[in-house]
Amino acid sequence: MEIFISKDNCTGCKKCTKACPYGALVLIDGKAAVNDRCTACGACLTVCKTRAIISNVKEREIPAFDDRKGVWVFVEQTEGHIHKVTLELLGIGQILAASTGQELSAVLLGNNVYHCLDTLKEFGAKNVYFCQHPGLENYQTASYSKIISEIVQNNKPNILLIGATPIGRDLAPRLAIRLEVGLTADCTELAIDQRDGTLLQTRPAFGGNVMATIKSPYSRPQMATVRPGVMKATRTMGSYELNVIEKKAHLSPQDTPIDVLERINQKGKNIGLENAKVIVAAGRGAASEKGIKFVFALAEALGGEVACTRPLVEEGLLPLERQVGQTGLVVKPEIYIACGISGAIQHKAGMSDSRYIIAINSDKNAPIFGVADWGILGDLNEVVPTFAAAITRRAERREK
Ligand SMILES: Cc1cc2nc3c(=O)[nH]c(=O)nc-3n(C[C@H](O)[C@H](O)[C@H](O)COP(=O)(O)OP(=O)(O)OC[C@H]3O[C@@H](n4cnc5c(N)ncnc54)[C@H](O)[C@@H]3O)c2cc1C
Repeated sequence: MEIFISKDNCTGCKKCTKACPYGALVLIDGKAAVNDRCTACGACLTVCKTRAIISNVKEREIPAFDDRKGVWVFVEQTEGHIHKVTLELLGIGQILAASTGQELSAVLLGNNVYHCLDTLKEFGAKNVYFCQHPGLENYQTASYSKIISEIVQNNKPNILLIGATPIGRDLAPRLAIRLEVGLTADCTELAIDQRDGTLLQTRPAFGGNVMATIKSPYSRPQMATVRPGVMKATRTMGSYELNVIEKKAHLSPQDTPIDVLERINQKGKNIGLENAKVIVAAGRGAASEKGIKFVFALAEALGGEVACTRPLVEEGLLPLERQVGQTGLVVKPEIYIACGISGAIQHKAGMSDSRYIIAINSDKNAPIFGVADWGILGDLNEVVPTFAAAITRRAERREK
């Protein structure tokens, strides 16, 4: 695709120069001109009100997709335990199903996983596409993508949601390729466009500096992965009969190329930040042996967990499992205490839904104060140990 300017129609309003993310449109003698940075992304086309910007590609016709029905959620389970992101996806799935007037379904693959059906119903699934086979006992890319793509092709869902977990991030692109559809990864918001019924898939873009809302109007199912901890799992009354649609799996040895001999859970990896009620988080302001010690002491006094920002992980001061934010975990504790954290958008992406946020920072202009319920302006090396000592004293008084 190429972009051309009709100089007669251009009013020099600068809407296109502002909309272009690549700086490819400039004003020369009061008229827009395209330079060699243009990637033909089309951002300028939508903002130009005078039809001065022309592309040499005809607009694609959007198919009707009347036969595409249903909001589907892939059930991630390991050894028969359903990953909590599946329940969160069923939560947003209930909302999307109500907005589209379609049914919510789950896709469950595994071996000896009948017991998962009750949970899926409890969290809102009306139908479960269910496939059991010894070759599906452990997740494998080839077998899972083969069976799910067959089920999708035969039943034509409108929307397919997958958790943005390591398994989901492996499965979703394989499925998208097999099904020849688009995929929006790492969404943080999903909604239905009331004008045309398409799925609005919102995710951070350009390093988290903007939120991009993406649609897939030309293909079905509309596929998105969603990060764990972002959506809310919602139990339903479930006063209906769950419709279980059993599918037979035909797997060849090529479909299960990996033999899983043993599963060993890595010790100490799961810090449990996603379920912590209180989190005390260390930022670069606390990036010293002393600062980190103070943060751990406050977390211990409050019975909470320690989290951190990315620079502390990059400096090797704390492990990745403690990082909160766009490239870390999304947490929603009752109390989040940010110690020496500036409040970059990438960090806020992981903690701004906390119930109460307390920020301790020596810079009164730190953006973290913008999302904090309480702000403490001061040196964390004084505030944090004082805070911890006060909590400990109070706990001791209560015990007496
Ligand atoms: C693609 C991408 C993804 C990213 N993902 C993440 C992510 O997942 N998580 C994340 O956290 N970041 C992420 N980042 C990095 C992010 O942009 C910020 O750089 C980072 O969050 C800043 O961390 P900070 O607040 O600890 O440090 P800084 O921004 O340096 O802030 C330190 C703060 O400490 C305060 N301070 C200093 N000394 C004291 C003291 N003695 N007492 C009190 N306050 C003090 C300062 O006033 C300052 O506000 C990402 C960046 C990119 C580009």
